[in-house]
Amino acid sequence: FELERLGVHESVDAVFPPEALADYLTDLPIDVAVVDDEGIEACDAVVTLEHRDAYLDCEWIHSIQAGVDRFPFDEFEANDVVLTNSTGIHDRSVGETVAGYLLLFARRLHDHVANQRERRWERPDWDAAFTLPGTTACVVGTGTLGRGVAETLGGLGVRVTGVRRSADPVPGFEEMFPTDRLHEAISDADFVIVTVPLTDETYHLFDADAFDAMRDDAYFVNVARGSVVDEPALIDALEDGRLEGAALDVFEAEPLPEESPLWDMDEVVISPHCAAYTRDYFRDTGDIVRENVDRLDTGEAFHNRVV
Ligand code: NAD
Repeated sequence: FELERLGVHESVDAVFPPEALADYLTDLPIDVAVVDDEGIEACDAVVTLEHRDAYLDCEWIHSIQAGVDRFPFDEFEANDVVLTNSTGIHDRSVGETVAGYLLLFARRLHDHVANQRERRWERPDWDAAFTLPGTTACVVGTGTLGRGVAETLGGLGVRVTGVRRSADPVPGFEEMFPTDRLHEAISDADFVIVTVPLTDETYHLFDADAFDAMRDDAYFVNVARGSVVDEPALIDALEDGRLEGAALDVFEAEPLPEESPLWDMDEVVISPHCAAYTRDYFRDTGDIVRENVDRLDTGEAFHNRVV
């Protein structure tokens, strides 16, 4: 297809100003403009966060997220709409967020912040703090996020093991398990970190049995998608002391409802689905869009094509 007009949908505003991306792409030999729902109709292609039914009349949709579980693949395919995503750019940002969570638990930084709010000078118990070398993190999913997490944690002296569909080795991981041996893989880890996409196969991959398989003193980290986890089962495990704590960036319902018991747990850290945020996000996404506009021009296959 011939690309004449590319829209930047206003829903990207949850991650960066739409104008920043439109400005970044002004040198492209096509018309680029910020659009609202009414403006979609006039576009051949749209860069977006959310799905809109009007996209089924476009030629190409680019998701600014790596996760594309919110898009109806079948309908895109039936309408000949190309879908591309933004995987490949979140290795360092999410890696550093996860390293931050681990340091916060190990060095008790979340306790200090909570105490400071109350003007309370209170030291942790003598045996509460620890250091990361000598601990093991099991990273479930060894794509962009998983590799970025492995590299960042490796730099902090953490022993990193992995879980992927095949058990083939991946640089940065000391040991690899196939997904069907998940429970064995997570059974002796100090930290279990989820970085798989949400698919039919990974829906509720972490259920009560998985939490039972983990050590009672282990921390659970989810930076993937909420529904990879059976959230009530996680809450039960935390309440019963079958897990030490959790750092959660994603939830089954977002925003996390005010009545969720997770908000009040001392050993739970909550971030509002922003593990990948960086002020460079619009540039990183823009570079993928630019690459694909070039490829369209030269007739090459799309980079990061999902449908
Ligand atoms: P990616 O495609 O680079 O990596 C995903 C990896 O998971 C691939 O290696 C794939 O083979 C593997 N995988 C798929 N199904 C699996 C299964 N059943 N068992 C084991 N491994 C499986 O994607 P990515 O950029 O690493 O992102 C991964 C996911 O993380 C996204 O789909 C998205 O949902 C989520 N994400 C969240 C944030 C955030 O802000 N919290 C940011 C980026 C991505």
